[in-house]
Amino acid sequence: MTSTIEPLSGTVEQTEVAARADAFVAELSEWLRIPSISADPDHHGDVARSAEWLAATLRRDGWPTVEVWSDTAALPAVYAHWPAADPAAPTVLVYGHHDVQPADLDDGWSFAPFDPQVVGEELRGRGASDDKGHIAMVLLGVRAHLAATGASAPAVSLKLLVEGEEESGSAHLAEVLAAHGDALACDEIVVTDTGMVDRETPTVCCGMRGLVDLEVVYRGASVDLHSGQFGGAVPNPVTELARLVATFHDEDGHIAVPGFYDDVREPTAEERAAWAALPFDEPAWLAGSAAGAMATSGEAGWSTYERLWARPTAEVNGLHGGYAGPGHKTIVPHSATLKMTFRLVDHQDPARIKALLERYVADRVPAGIDAEVSTGGPGVPPLICDLDSDLVASIREAMGIALGAEVLPAREGGSGPEALLTEALGAPLAFLGVMLPGDRIHAPDERAVLPLLLRGAESVAHLWRLLAARGRRP
Ligand SMILES: [Zn+2]
Repeated sequence: MTSTIEPLSGTVEQTEVAARADAFVAELSEWLRIPSISADPDHHGDVARSAEWLAATLRRDGWPTVEVWSDTAALPAVYAHWPAADPAAPTVLVYGHHDVQPADLDDGWSFAPFDPQVVGEELRGRGASDDKGHIAMVLLGVRAHLAATGASAPAVSLKLLVEGEEESGSAHLAEVLAAHGDALACDEIVVTDTGMVDRETPTVCCGMRGLVDLEVVYRGASVDLHSGQFGGAVPNPVTELARLVATFHDEDGHIAVPGFYDDVREPTAEERAAWAALPFDEPAWLAGSAAGAMATSGEAGWSTYERLWARPTAEVNGLHGGYAGPGHKTIVPHSATLKMTFRLVDHQDPARIKALLERYVADRVPAGIDAEVSTGGPGVPPLICDLDSDLVASIREAMGIALGAEVLPAREGGSGPEALLTEALGAPLAFLGVMLPGDRIHAPDERAVLPLLLRGAESVAHLWRLLAARGRRP
C-alpha cells in the first residue's frame, strides 16, 4: 500500500506498522462485517458478537486481561489491561466504541454498508472510520510499539474501554464507570473518536462543546378554533411561540438570555492564532461539508471555526403547530411546540444554563397561554483539554513524527461522553484520531483513508514511548 502523504517518518515504529498493513486491513474488514448497530434492538446480538470479536483479537495480541462487560444495563463493552513492566509508569486509558450508526442500502449507499471494500487508498464500509477503524488503529499501534521496543509489555500501563452504545448516546456509560471505577482507574485518558480538520493539515482536537435541551409547549383553547369565528379575538399559540423564538438572539447573533454568557471562557490567544492559521475554504466548506448551505452566518465578530468550537449556540431544531397539509384549514391552532438545543462552551455549566432557560421562558408566558417547559436530562458539560499538559504535548509530538508536520490544536463543535469520563475517573483527557470531514461518518458511503489510519497507528506507537518518558520526569 502506498501513501500519498510524504514523507514517511522512517522510524522503526513506521516500519513495524507498514509490515502489518495488509493484515490490518483484512482484520478490520472482518470486524466491519459485523453490523453492530446499537440503535436497533434487532442488531443487539451483533453488538455482542462485535464485542466478542474484539475481545478475541485482544487475547490473540497478548493482552493479559480482557473482559466483555455485560453486567449493567449497557450493551456489551470491552475492557482490557496490559500493565507496564515498570510499576512507576503512568496508566493510560484509551476510550472508543465498537457500535456503529445504522446503515442501509436504501439510505443512499452506493455499496453494501457491511460488505467492506478497499477502493484505491480507501477502506469503505460502516464503521471504517467511526470508530472501529480507530480502535483497530490503536491495536496496531500497540503491536508496532512492542515490536519496535522489543519489549514484552508496553512502556505505559495500558487500559482499553470500548463502549457498545456510544452511537445511542452512551445512555448507560455512567453506570459502567460507577460499576468498574477501580478497574478503569488511570492517570490519563486518550479518546480515539475524533479527527483532523483536513488531510494536509494535521490537527488534534482539544475540546468539545456541551449540550442542553429545551422543549416548550404553548397551549390556548382545548381544541383548534374556527379562524373566522375566533381569529383576532383569542391568542394564537403558534404566533406567540414564534415571538418567543425570535427573542433568543439579538441582531448580532448574540444569545439574549440574561446571564447566558456569564461563565464563558474565551479561547486563548494561542488557540485563536492557531485556528486562524488553519486553511478554511469557505465556498468548498459550504458546498461540501455544509451540504449546499448558501452562506455562513452567526455571532458577529467570530470566525466560522470560532463559532463552531468556542461560542455557544441557541439552535431551533423544530417549531410545530397548526396545519401544514394540502390546501388550507382555517383555524386558530390550540397548541404549538418548540424544540431547541443549546451547545455550551468552556466554562458553562449545564445545570445553571437549564435554570436560566426555564426562568427565561417562565418570565415571558403571554396572557391566555399555558406554557409547559422541560429541559430533559442532565445535559452534557463541555470539555476543554489543557494545551499545556504533558498529555496534549505528547500527542502533538507523536502525531507530528508520524505525519511529518506540526500538529495544530483544533476543536470539534459536537458533544460526547468525554466530560463524563474525565469527571468519573478523575483524570485529564485528550484526543488522538485521524478522521476526516470527508469520511462521511454517520452518513452513507462511510470510508477511512488507509494511509492516514496507518499514520495514526504509528502515532499511537510513538505516544506510549513519549508518555512513559515524560511520566518518569521528576
Ligand atoms: Zn464515534
